[in-house]
Amino acid sequence: MRLSKTFVKTLREAPKDETARNGALLVRAGYVHKEMAGVYDYLPLGMRVIEKIKNIIREELNKIGCQEVLLSTLQNPEPWEKTGRFDDQEVDIWFKTELASGGILGLAPTHEEPMTNLLKTYISSYKDLPLYVYQFQTKFRNELRAKSGILRGREFLMKDLYSFHTSEEDLDKFYEEVEKAYDRIYARVGLGDCTFKTFASGGIFSKYSHEYQTILPVGEDTIYYNSDKSLVFNKEVFNDEVLKEFGVSKEDFEETTAAEVGNIFKLKFKYSEPLGLRYIDEENKPQTVYMGCYGIGVSRLMGVIAEKFADDKGLCLPESVAPYKICLVGIGENGVKKAEEIYQGNEETILFDDRDKRPGEKFADSELIGLPFRVVVSDKTLDEDAVEITERKTGETRKISFEELSRIVEGR
Ligand code: ATP
Ligand code: MG
Repeated sequence: MRLSKTFVKTLREAPKDETARNGALLVRAGYVHKEMAGVYDYLPLGMRVIEKIKNIIREELNKIGCQEVLLSTLQNPEPWEKTGRFDDQEVDIWFKTELASGGILGLAPTHEEPMTNLLKTYISSYKDLPLYVYQFQTKFRNELRAKSGILRGREFLMKDLYSFHTSEEDLDKFYEEVEKAYDRIYARVGLGDCTFKTFASGGIFSKYSHEYQTILPVGEDTIYYNSDKSLVFNKEVFNDEVLKEFGVSKEDFEETTAAEVGNIFKLKFKYSEPLGLRYIDEENKPQTVYMGCYGIGVSRLMGVIAEKFADDKGLCLPESVAPYKICLVGIGENGVKKAEEIYQGNEETILFDDRDKRPGEKFADSELIGLPFRVVVSDKTLDEDAVEITERKTGETRKISFEELSRIVEGR
């Protein structure tokens, strides 16, 4: 992308009401625009981050046999009334709207009911199971406090996966597959060493569920971890009874704040029973479908990455999710000409700062935008038949040949 051609501009200051670091940095660097508290627009750079995160998740879920769909956001109250969740104050608070022709609709805060209801049309026999269906979907929640930038939106992007099985063993088996897929996803987005599977309460049908918590100073959750972080509990389940069950004691644990970037639940019959999702087994008898559900907060994940990978100069994104790999700056007539040449054909890898601005300003912006590398071509580097490459993370600068630059650009 050519910076001269995009409408997005970096900003010296974040909006006054943007107190969260992720929001402030992402707004200033031109990744997102703040519409109002908890509501953000995603700009070209931000879109690319979201798409990269989605693709990583998509690849890992498709690998374990999941199928992608997109359900509606407007919700018919009917299935939610069957589970008692349309007026349930326990549910993250609904946004609701009126139909012009009369009646009320909801804006989906989650999709257990509509997904279960949808699959009644398609699941009839044991031969239709197991089945794993997911989507990337905008959820609406009337969150009381939305002061954490894109970590807590009133409108946000979630990946929600639902699994359908004929037995508890099969659900357990798939649950473990998802655990492994989640580990790969968090590792690939750069959060592998600070994200932990955490015991959380499971509700009526399962003793525990699991959250994926990323250790983060501004995280809204509190978690407790043992010395090698092999055992992590959220606040809800960190009590004497649970500790006794695991044969551990309070003193072995440290407390820290964290952000929940995902969670997984064994739902069993929680939704399939009230909504009547059944199949015919091998003996021709009707049976209730076992279910699991598995969420990842995609936009929150982007916010967590922005919080984690930043310094006083700006963002410092991992390559796997950065919108581009390289920010390219040409200095002087020859430098600019050579930069044009380098840019040609590499529009997906290079963010070309071809704006009519001073080098100092371009350097500051490249640090704010936080791509993994900055490459500078100038008379000085051309004299040595080289370019200057700076790693954003370490600030380390070195001269490399055009050949080596091609290797880096092409990821060889
Ligand atoms: P939280 O405790 O943070 O409110 P939750 O328990 O309500 O989360 P779920 O309903 O299970 O979350 O949603 C699945 C995932 O969606 C969460 O793990 C989180 O990563 C993300 N998420 C939930 N609420 C929000 C929000 N308001 N903004 C952005 N992401 C969210
Ligand atoms: Mg919530």
